[in-house]
Amino acid sequence: MKKIIVAIDGFSSNGKSTMAKSLAKQIGYVYIDSGAMYRAVTLYCIKCDLFENGRLDEQELHNRIKDIGIEFRLNDDTGMPDTYLNGENVESAIRGMDVSSKVSLVSAIPFVRYAMVASQQEMGKTKGIVMDGRDIGTVVFPGAEMKIFVTADPEIRARRRFDELRSKGDMETTFEEVLENLKSRDHLDQTRTESPLVKAEDAILLDNSYMTVDEQMQWLLEKFEQITTN
Ligand code: C5P
Repeated sequence: MKKIIVAIDGFSSNGKSTMAKSLAKQIGYVYIDSGAMYRAVTLYCIKCDLFENGRLDEQELHNRIKDIGIEFRLNDDTGMPDTYLNGENVESAIRGMDVSSKVSLVSAIPFVRYAMVASQQEMGKTKGIVMDGRDIGTVVFPGAEMKIFVTADPEIRARRRFDELRSKGDMETTFEEVLENLKSRDHLDQTRTESPLVKAEDAILLDNSYMTVDEQMQWLLEKFEQITTN
């Protein structure tokens, strides 16, 4: 069967990655988390002290952007790709609140987006990938054969993210902080000038507020089969 590109876009913490990972596993495709790449650049900025009083030294980041190497390597235990920043496994470090609170500032910078988009397009050259993000169906792969735009109620998304942080041992972050962070990221992602978060005209809308993970998988597999057998 000919391989296609599956683009899954949508708001923060709506379960896109879980869906995209499971779909990739089921159909034997490679999963790529584009958000992890913006998170890795943000972690780089934090580690290199490019933030001062909440302001980012964009010029310095511009000078260094070519030195930021991001790659995915398969984790044999999870069967999923882990994110590496200049050779270091940062899969867990990029998920913390310090990165989450700054990533939308970094991802709005045009030269950061150009670099990430170019690298994502390279990864999709051979097709057979499921990539999730904000602009995959609109900018990275406007010709993707299958495009899904995921949305869910903000309170429900914040509850899911909060439960995830707790399960990973973060006992500090409050539900209100998670909700605020999510709303502010939604706002920044939708209103930035460069590649704002918007549903591609030909994307299929999925509101998963009241769907279980199994129901979403069923839904996605049906769409995949319809598209690949037509
Ligand atoms: O998907 P995730 O929530 O991990 O993405 C983190 C942030 O990276 C988003 O809030 C958004 O600012 C940015 N992002 C983006 N374009 C993508 C993927 C993520 O701007 N394709």
